[in-house]
Amino acid sequence: QCIVHCPVGALRERKDATKVMAALDDPEITTVVQIAPAVRTAWGEALDLPPDKATVNQLAGALKQMGFDYVFDTSFSADLTIMEEATEFLHRLQKGDLEKYPMFTSCCPAWVRFLKSRHPELVPQLSTAKSPQQMFGSVIKSYFAERIGVRPEKICCISVMPCVAKKAECDIPAMRDEYGVKDVDYVLTTREIIRMLRLSDITPDKVEEKPFDRIMGDYSGAGVIFGTTGGVMEAALRTASYMVTGKNPSTGAFGFVHAGKKFAEGEYPWQEATYTIGGNKIRVAVTSGLRNADRLCKALLRGQVKYDFVEVMACPTGCAGGGGQPFHRDDVERGATRGKVLRNLDEHMQMRFSHENPDIQRLYSEALGEPMSDAAEKLLHTDHESWQMPDEGEPQTPDIHVV
Ligand code: SF4
Repeated sequence: QCIVHCPVGALRERKDATKVMAALDDPEITTVVQIAPAVRTAWGEALDLPPDKATVNQLAGALKQMGFDYVFDTSFSADLTIMEEATEFLHRLQKGDLEKYPMFTSCCPAWVRFLKSRHPELVPQLSTAKSPQQMFGSVIKSYFAERIGVRPEKICCISVMPCVAKKAECDIPAMRDEYGVKDVDYVLTTREIIRMLRLSDITPDKVEEKPFDRIMGDYSGAGVIFGTTGGVMEAALRTASYMVTGKNPSTGAFGFVHAGKKFAEGEYPWQEATYTIGGNKIRVAVTSGLRNADRLCKALLRGQVKYDFVEVMACPTGCAGGGGQPFHRDDVERGATRGKVLRNLDEHMQMRFSHENPDIQRLYSEALGEPMSDAAEKLLHTDHESWQMPDEGEPQTPDIHVV
């Protein structure tokens, strides 16, 4: 079995395409696939498709032709993550939980794994919100399963991710319902889906574009920018600001990473900004790459810096430069260029706020009530301390350039 090393040193790649093909061939199984935001920026690269042909709806069309029953965009559940994470952040701020250390984002499993092994004393600061991948799976196997009248164990939930670490995330024991049904069954990297397309009879540029399926097909620009560094923070602050003031901020109000605001004092390898939301001063920081994250954690523990909310993504430039994206012979990193594509998509979308997503609003009104309700906690949150790190020796901090 071929194994590829993850560039962030977090994991080794396991191939899951054969298991997915078996699920597609099984008439008893309903297959549901989600496509992560960053995949749309890269899937056409290895197939030599021009950007106007390598749209996410073109990929949705190809996956339908491959036999997947339902195709969705993970940007939907990125919006859901924002609803929960922004609410959690405001609750923690109000309770005084962030006086010493900030709340950390939790959507990158390589970062969660790194924090658990390197700085376990900071694990309580991780947001309890599951990642968009896992939230998607848990909603598919409950709310969506009920709507289409299929038992959860008869649904095979598959993700197409720019990420190798997501394969291990879906196997974490806590990422299941109370009957042991996994939220997400298999994860395919962008490279694997490209290989599957090549092996099929499908010519992706001849495929008809397809819309995402109902009733979880809408997504906002805030969900799309999850795929690039700073996107989660920006999306969360847009919605947190709305939750506090009752009004939408201007869409550029929290684009500090995009706008390239100042570095922290001492030229630390992260970006910081301070905002005022409803009279509260909020200090935030964003970094990518685990070496940078390590330095940030050490500075926090030494009391050298102080923030309320911190976003960390393990891959330099975030998921757009993820370990599951296509490799190129010229060895040029394309994460930053792909990230700009996501920013551009956000800027041109009509819906820029997660809380305005009508499918998210319906999910809350029909099933969850409100963010962080008991139902939402049960389905969409996790206890990061409920599982142990496998004993694999001392983890290595990869030698990644400073952003
Ligand atoms: Fe995966 Fe890298 Fe994105 Fe983290 S930053 S979720 S490791 S692709």
